[in-house]
Amino acid sequence: MAEVTMEKIVSLCKRRGFIYQSSEIYGGLNGAYDYGPLGVQLKNNIRDMWWKEMTQLHDGIVGLDASILMHSKVWEASGHISNFTDPMVDCKKCKSRFRADQIDLEAPCPVCGNKGTFTSPRNFNLMFETHIGADSDTASTIYLRPETAQGIYVDFKNVLQSSRVKIPFGIAQVGKSFRNEITTKSFIFRSCEFEQMEMQFFCAPGEDEKWFPYWREQRMAFYSKMGIRPDHLRWHQHGPDELAFYAKDAYDIQFLFPMGWQELEGVHSRTDYDLTQHQKFSGKDMSYLDPTTHEHFIPYVVETSAGLTRNVLMAISDAYEEQELEKDSRVVLHFHPLIAPITVAVFPLVKKDGLAEKASEIEHALREEFSTFYDQSGAIGRRYRRMDEIGTPYCVTIDYDTMKDNSVTLRFRDSMEQVRISITDLVKEIQGSIKNYRRGNDE
Ligand code: ATP
Repeated sequence: MAEVTMEKIVSLCKRRGFIYQSSEIYGGLNGAYDYGPLGVQLKNNIRDMWWKEMTQLHDGIVGLDASILMHSKVWEASGHISNFTDPMVDCKKCKSRFRADQIDLEAPCPVCGNKGTFTSPRNFNLMFETHIGADSDTASTIYLRPETAQGIYVDFKNVLQSSRVKIPFGIAQVGKSFRNEITTKSFIFRSCEFEQMEMQFFCAPGEDEKWFPYWREQRMAFYSKMGIRPDHLRWHQHGPDELAFYAKDAYDIQFLFPMGWQELEGVHSRTDYDLTQHQKFSGKDMSYLDPTTHEHFIPYVVETSAGLTRNVLMAISDAYEEQELEKDSRVVLHFHPLIAPITVAVFPLVKKDGLAEKASEIEHALREEFSTFYDQSGAIGRRYRRMDEIGTPYCVTIDYDTMKDNSVTLRFRDSMEQVRISITDLVKEIQGSIKNYRRGNDE
């Protein structure tokens, strides 16, 4: 099987409108990306699937959308101002900057080839700094949030008092985060602006022992629901040198990206560290009053923290396949139908004799249920290939028989099988196929 390389993914993403480099006409901006028509749909579908999974399918999880700009004390309390750093070195000759832990400091500079030109390592804070307020004398320094989690901790009491939740409960949030990453290679894997899907689960001290394995199991199960191949996912437990000083235990879900095994999501047992810190720095009580024992305690937290944009890269890399067929070859994205940007494409075999009008009518009728696409140009085989390459799981073709007996051809992406069915059965048939979808066996 042909190798899936990052070059192939990047090229497909640009060619078919999934992802572009930001500000490309000005030479591009490192670490920032734009999601095109198909990319934004894919990203929204993954986000919606996560949101439904967390808030609708689990008990006691409520949503939140906290602002990106927060009081700078938040980041003092969380430790980000003092600790959220990477060690970096500069080449004195060519001015290139590297993460000190990612290069050999004894070797020549990988950019200009000079030896002995690195500065000594310095800690570099990854938070983007900006100012709020128009008057330069009184404006204060604030930061673009480097994670969404702190918004959840800071609003813990608000949610508790306004939504009648009782421990154990969780707060879920999806949103942008920003990190001034020194190395932004590997496409959208590590960018300066990205999106996270985080859920903080608050429980009684000791109960974390139960919820930590529960959430690990749940989060891995989510990716199989999303259709990701299980042998491309694995667990990595943080060793003592990786574990944050406050964390009790931490596991990452890793995915086999084109450049190797890398973190996709973290599931962390964070104890009462975050709420305790915010209680200390804000002076506000962050405890929970147990309604049965009447005892106050600061809840323990189990966090699930996934990158949404990193999930997009995973979904595309996992779906990508180059297939040699009997007469030709094709590139196919085996997206699970629940996340595919377009679910059903509708084609008239030819434009004339009322076929185009009939196809358009059918496409309109399917819109209530599915994300659809209408295409009447080019040979039918070429139209199928275009849909394969963007991962559209179902194609419906209208031909002369349709005009006589209201039947259409339904074509499945993975198997390329075609069945003849009545228009009245189309929605049910596709819904059934989505429900039972298994990669390679989509009929
Ligand atoms: P790394 O060690 O790779 O820098 P991290 O361990 O600091 O990442 P977390 O702070 O745990 O990452 O963030 C949770 C999730 O957010 C990660 O698993 C990843 O999916 C996503 N994420 C973190 N940083 C970035 C980034 N720069 N670009 C894209 N996604 C990111």
